[in-house]
Amino acid sequence: METIKSDVGQAEATLTLLRDLIHNQRLALSQHYNTNDLEMQLATWEGMLHQLQQNTALERSARLGLLYEASQALAHSLDWDDTVESVMDIVIRVTGAERGLVMLLEDGKWQVQLSRSSKEIPFSQRDLEFSHSIIEQMVSQGKAILTHNAQRDPRFNSSDSIIAYGLRSILCAPLMVQGELLGALYLENRMKSGIFSPDDLATLAAFANQAAVALANARIHQQTHRALLRSVRELRLLQEMARDLNSSLDHQHVMERSVRWIATAVEADSGAVGLLAEEGLRWAARLGDTSPDDASAWQVIRGRRANFTPQQMLLPILREDRPLGVFWLAAGERPFTEESLEFAIRLADSAAIAIENARLYEALVRANQSKNEFVSLVSHELRTPMTSIRGYTDMLRKGIVGPLSPQQQTFIDTISRNVERMRIMVSDLLDISRMESGKLRLKPVATAVKDAVEEAVRIVQEPLQSKQQALAVDVPPTLPQVIADPDRLAQILINLLGNAVKYTPANGSVAIRAEEYAKEPGTVHIAVADTGVGMSLEDQQHLFTKFFRSENPAVREQTGTGLGLAIAKNLVELHGGSMWVESTLGAGSVFHFTMPVAMSES
Ligand code: ADP
Repeated sequence: METIKSDVGQAEATLTLLRDLIHNQRLALSQHYNTNDLEMQLATWEGMLHQLQQNTALERSARLGLLYEASQALAHSLDWDDTVESVMDIVIRVTGAERGLVMLLEDGKWQVQLSRSSKEIPFSQRDLEFSHSIIEQMVSQGKAILTHNAQRDPRFNSSDSIIAYGLRSILCAPLMVQGELLGALYLENRMKSGIFSPDDLATLAAFANQAAVALANARIHQQTHRALLRSVRELRLLQEMARDLNSSLDHQHVMERSVRWIATAVEADSGAVGLLAEEGLRWAARLGDTSPDDASAWQVIRGRRANFTPQQMLLPILREDRPLGVFWLAAGERPFTEESLEFAIRLADSAAIAIENARLYEALVRANQSKNEFVSLVSHELRTPMTSIRGYTDMLRKGIVGPLSPQQQTFIDTISRNVERMRIMVSDLLDISRMESGKLRLKPVATAVKDAVEEAVRIVQEPLQSKQQALAVDVPPTLPQVIADPDRLAQILINLLGNAVKYTPANGSVAIRAEEYAKEPGTVHIAVADTGVGMSLEDQQHLFTKFFRSENPAVREQTGTGLGLAIAKNLVELHGGSMWVESTLGAGSVFHFTMPVAMSES
């Protein structure tokens, strides 16, 4: 464009000079020339010049229009490939190139990312060939390169590719953003030389600048998008894994599931989890055929750092920097990447929590088991000497071995009261440990509630009388029998009635009522009511848990262990019934429970 402009300028100046010459030297000229002919000739030249000037202006504005269009497309596009394709088509049209390439510099290598041909020229494999020496020139000069005839250009006369591909006109502009070379735009024409003008060079350089910025933006966009997708996928997987692993405290289940989750996430072929145990490293769960090797597993556990190759990963399982074990994973068809390693580490960290919980739970269950075994053993051992103490104190009390002085009588009474307390305590402990280990067995038979109530009333008779409390018993003779272990039903009633008497001040009243339960057909409802100390709502929430005793001083002044109600409720539930309480602090309580009705004889 610039050459045309200066050529037109020169022609214009020459024509003006000629017109002045004809005008000023008309006389002298007329002696040798026909001045009219000269003027006509001049007018024709001026006409041609005018036409040329107009055409140049037109072409320039058309180019500017296209350049504007292409820049807009590049500036607003996030899909770089599509936009650059259409921009290259425009560039090919404007410059008259045969073909254009978009080259990208990836890991130090030039790759053809896109190849476009002018419409008239069919696409061939050769379209992907390009001259390395032009690219090298462009890189070394750091700016766009133009050659009118590469075959004769002294800069490329040693280049084989230029000769081999028969390259003539070539234009090449770098794609640069903030000093970083991302690639190049490359235009060529093999047929003609001198096809590109310096204007084309400027146009291509301008496109290249815009395209480079658009490329950088699109890459960032693509990277962010990919990273976002990856994070969402990871988060979802982490969440699902945590939910799955935390849904169970079963040790083996947690081990097997955790290996499966991590192996699936990184597309591993085989996997295993090894745990540190007293005996050393124990492979707790395995997936696939290959086996891990202990030596490298130990190295990872000791060093507390992952060991990674594209074929295998060993990840330490750490809780607060304390090693619990190791995950081992072997790659399948696809080798592991740094990315999959990082993801696997995050999964292993999350799995570590569930693994530790499962371990603690397992240890807790074991500790509880041994505690129950111990309590059960000790209670059994205590029962024998206590029976003999009870037997001898009874004989002494009854005067079988001779009369007692009043003081001796008081002492013996105290001994026998305390032995009875000990007996209850030991038998409660035994019951609790049997319940917890699931060893408490019932002997259910059709039982009359009345009998159990009478037994309970007999037991509490002494304190009831000494506190001068009133007792009301309402067990209708028509009440159906219940299906229950008679000793256990009596135990439940003794417990409730005993508490009612214990936690009700002197002169208060206590009542037992039993009825067929209309709300739950097929059950009998039994209620034990008192006008005693009652309990707060907060106390009611903790009731029925082992060892709970209210802080109320009126409760604390009575002896007790806090085991009776927990046992009673458990026994009721073992019979298939339920137990609940209604109480008002300072006004009294009602304890309710249900028992299933025994079916008819048949
Ligand atoms: P203990 O009577 O040996 O303390 P229990 O398991 O029988 O143990 O009762 C647990 C707690 O429940 C008692 O310490 C007391 O605080 C409360 N409680 C039980 N029965 C009554 C009642 N009838 N009135 C008021 N509080 C009661």
